[in-house]
Amino acid sequence: MLKLLVVDDEEEICDFLRIFFEERNFKVSTALSGEEALRKVEVEQPDVCLLDIKMPGLDGIQVLKEVKRRYPKIKVIMVTAIETTEKIEEAVRIGADNYITKPLSLEYLEKDVHQKISDVA
Ligand SMILES: [Mg+2]
Repeated sequence: MLKLLVVDDEEEICDFLRIFFEERNFKVSTALSGEEALRKVEVEQPDVCLLDIKMPGLDGIQVLKEVKRRYPKIKVIMVTAIETTEKIEEAVRIGADNYITKPLSLEYLEKDVHQKISDVA
């Protein structure tokens, strides 16, 4: 079973994405902060991480840096509501595998998660 880690400081988004991907046979865990995300990445070694950019404390860019440094094989898809492309460009430079913007298109997201996993296989 493929493992997905959803990271977002908004609990409703975590729950929403968890249910969506569990229905599609992923093993999903969630983290509500960057700090929690790094702990879960270490313990669970997910295949794909959906990572919110804007979070209090450690933000998505900082988490991305750490994840890519320690576990370069984990695919990271940034999730952002931020209109400016600046953060997205920074994330891509650091090694983000893709990004999607809120409001989320679940159809696109599901396709992209599958795509990223088949890149690994
Ligand atoms: Mg947020």
